[in-house]
Amino acid sequence: MVNFAVFDLDDTLVDSTDAIDRWFAELAGQRELGAEGLEFLRAEQQRPVAPRETFRVIVERFGFSESPAELQALFWERWPRLVRPFGGVIEHLRLLRGAGWRLAVLTNGPESVQRLKMGDELAGLFDAVCFADGTQVPLKPDPESFRLVARRAAAELEGAWMVGDSLVHDVAGATAVGMETIWISGGRKPAPGEAVPGRVVATVTEAFRLLLPEGARGLRSPQRPEHADR
Ligand SMILES: [Mg+2]
Repeated sequence: MVNFAVFDLDDTLVDSTDAIDRWFAELAGQRELGAEGLEFLRAEQQRPVAPRETFRVIVERFGFSESPAELQALFWERWPRLVRPFGGVIEHLRLLRGAGWRLAVLTNGPESVQRLKMGDELAGLFDAVCFADGTQVPLKPDPESFRLVARRAAAELEGAWMVGDSLVHDVAGATAVGMETIWISGGRKPAPGEAVPGRVVATVTEAFRLLLPEGARGLRSPQRPEHADR
């Protein structure tokens, strides 16, 4: 049996949320908003409101010449380019590939944005990359999105792993199609009623550590009698 792992992208393989902070820091630098200005931007980023509201408040506070929609467009243009893989991601993915794993990405978001966040080096390490935009690929947690990524990677969902930071999109979705799940909690605890992950880790590095022994077992399996493999 071939080992197969599917990864979420945002805040699983790449630091999308950290990159938002880098964009605010860049904006504060370019427009000379000072430390106090950056502090205001960061506080605004933390406020649980719609992005449109965040950009409206920022434009108003600093008197920018752009409209809120124009500032938001500048963010969407620049932010994906500031996203980087977490440390060790590229190396660990190479180790898994070397151990015979099939690997895929299943991410919610338009390909035009998500592909920029991945970059060529990361994208080149997967057998399949599925950009779920609700049209050709249904959005996670739709079970069909998981079936589709397995088909595209020429792999089976049975015994496969899903690694992600969302209990709703990644853990609940993958559990519904019988996958094993690793939740990257970032130190959070599931709230009552939320999906229950198979394994919980704080960082993606720990997720790789859980998977790699599986790969090592897969490497040894040809030396065992055929019937012992399952
Ligand atoms: Mg995510």
